[in-house]
Amino acid sequence: MYRIEKEGRTFLCFALSVCFAFLFWFSPICLKYSVLEKLRDTSYPQVFQENLSKLNKMSLSYIESTLPSPEYSNLLYFFFQDGVISDNEKNFLSLIQKNYPNTYFSKPQAEKLFTLTNLKKFEEFFKYKISAGEIDQLAFSSDMLDRISQEIYPVNSNKIPILMYHSIEDTRVGITRESFLNQLNMLYENGFSTMKMEDYLNGDFSKIPEGRKPVILTFDDGWISQFRYLDEKGEKIDPACVVGTLESFSNKYPLFGKSAVFYLYMRIPPFCCSIGSIQQQKLWQKKVKYLIDNGFEIGNHTLNHKYFIHEKEQEIKKELDEFYSKMFPLLGKNLKHALTFAYPGGYLPDNKTVLNNYRYKGFSIKASVKASGGGAIVPSGQNNNLQELPRIPAEDYLVKAMVTQPFFRKTSLKIQIPKMFLSSHNLKMMWIKENGNIPAGSYILDNQIVQFPS
Ligand SMILES: [Zn+2]
Repeated sequence: MYRIEKEGRTFLCFALSVCFAFLFWFSPICLKYSVLEKLRDTSYPQVFQENLSKLNKMSLSYIESTLPSPEYSNLLYFFFQDGVISDNEKNFLSLIQKNYPNTYFSKPQAEKLFTLTNLKKFEEFFKYKISAGEIDQLAFSSDMLDRISQEIYPVNSNKIPILMYHSIEDTRVGITRESFLNQLNMLYENGFSTMKMEDYLNGDFSKIPEGRKPVILTFDDGWISQFRYLDEKGEKIDPACVVGTLESFSNKYPLFGKSAVFYLYMRIPPFCCSIGSIQQQKLWQKKVKYLIDNGFEIGNHTLNHKYFIHEKEQEIKKELDEFYSKMFPLLGKNLKHALTFAYPGGYLPDNKTVLNNYRYKGFSIKASVKASGGGAIVPSGQNNNLQELPRIPAEDYLVKAMVTQPFFRKTSLKIQIPKMFLSSHNLKMMWIKENGNIPAGSYILDNQIVQFPS
């Protein structure tokens, strides 16, 4: 009995010792394994395993006490590299927990976030409430928090006039040269400056002088009064033709510029046609080349000046193709700057999608202009109607009425945005809304009209 009792006590002692040993020796391992279990589910199990032994007790207890959520396990990957969590890293982790509670970061996101710790001002990053998804769009670099100037334009009127001219010497197909010069003066004195069609389509107002209003000048059909040489060799441009007039006018008034689009058809060689006669046929290539080389724009006005109304899609494509194939030897790599079109006679095709679907050598028509309709709206990402841009016929009475209307005037607002927000329109919008401190209203930002509430 006694022996049995003694054996029982011995057994009890043994059992207690095992329990104590378990508590004292195995519990730290349990602690370690609880962390391990959390991290086994991450994308970095092998990294964790390799570096576990390097972790010192302080770092381990820091992880246990302050990072209970396995969501942040991806971020721990970085700290296992040297087995120590520095104060800077602790600071970083607490900012993450505060700003991104229960957020799982993918490996690229975690890596991007970690690069922030190399920045002096990285805490500034956390002032902006950027979602984990948006982190993917951010431009990460050592100077990402440096501020860069961004121009935005208040939209005081969202219309820009596109004027339509034809001949400037015969009133049967246009206006007199005297009227043309009067109109240029009227435009200039009322604050207009010429804008390239391409810049308009790109929403690029940078070349418009501050405080002035853009106007786009377009000239249809390639009349000789638009471009005439004084001699048959093509050495001197007639100062009375459109090109000569625009060049001397812009020399006198540099703020006006001399941008213009010439919508040409090819049945008769461009810039050769006058009422009742064809002249300077050998010079048309030289004229077109001159325009391309001197900052003017060329646009498609078909091969035969064909009206597209009731026309078959195949015929429309052929008309557009033939213009480009005849013009291509001159355009070459400038083809991409000649991707707008003017509807002959202003007639739209029955099927409005033809222009959108058209391709030449892989290039599409960026915009098409009609023959009427008033001011064209400021281009915007939401504007799907670029194949039906309205124009204003440049009749004296219309231009006179037009110049006093409230058209878009360029007034820039320069804001300083941290570089990291420049990588997408949405990020820019988010930053400006929270920090831009700009008056409520409509603005043009990145070729889009945006609203900023007060
Ligand atoms: Zn025409």
